[in-house]
Amino acid sequence: MKKPTAPAPTRRAAPASQRAQARPKTPAQKSAPTAGAAPKRALPKAVQAVRARKSMPRAVGPQIIEEIFSRFHTAMPEPKGELEYVNAFTLLVAVVLSAQATDVGVNKATRPLFAVADTPQKMLALGEDKVREYVKTIGLFRTKAKNVVELSRQLIERFGGEVPADRDALVTLPGVGRKTANVVLNMAFGHETMAVDTHIFRVSNRLKLAPGKTPDQVEAGLEKRVPKHFRLHAHHWLILHGRYTCKALRPECERCVVSDLCTSADKRVP
Ligand code: SF4
Repeated sequence: MKKPTAPAPTRRAAPASQRAQARPKTPAQKSAPTAGAAPKRALPKAVQAVRARKSMPRAVGPQIIEEIFSRFHTAMPEPKGELEYVNAFTLLVAVVLSAQATDVGVNKATRPLFAVADTPQKMLALGEDKVREYVKTIGLFRTKAKNVVELSRQLIERFGGEVPADRDALVTLPGVGRKTANVVLNMAFGHETMAVDTHIFRVSNRLKLAPGKTPDQVEAGLEKRVPKHFRLHAHHWLILHGRYTCKALRPECERCVVSDLCTSADKRVP
């Protein structure tokens, strides 16, 4: 006869309150302040900025930056933007129209527009309805047509019909942000500005010229690190490199002139 064995100890269910404590917390519960605990205080902005800087990769050194821009310069001594314009005003209008649109598409629309309106006075006289007809192939054309006519009015009323060579003044115009102002200052007035668009942002991070999480951080890094003798053209070299070689999805690294200086995780050649 089989000897009876002592029954295995059964595990008693924990009280409901303990079970609730043992369960893993959802993300929402984790972030919710615990009753009685002191609420988390936001870190001072200076501390946040230092932590953000520490989490970014380090920028390459000055010798590599010099070499990168030397090669861009050799490959393209006089880089040019691709928007068509005949004066500072038409450049300003073309850049305002180019937000979230291609330069090719903007040029198609502005060629006939600038043939009839190449000054703020003529653009204002043309009026919003007619401007809208000229630019209707460009994304967000209704808002952009309105901005173009309104900025023309403001140029006449506040700046004597001239485009101001001053960023603080430019950004007060409708449809003009910091990037647009930087493009106009660089191309129309020869200022050494960095207009950080999606291409410059990507290339500056991939090449670690000016690593940053926002366009403003990249702009500040480039202004600090690009050698003075390359600053006027730096923004065009970086845009053109990003648009035609260092593309977002499939960078063409096999024909990149700075491939041996690039340590990006997106690089597609050894
Ligand atoms: S090697 Fe590739 S990823 Fe690096 S900069 Fe050149 S094109 Fe861009």
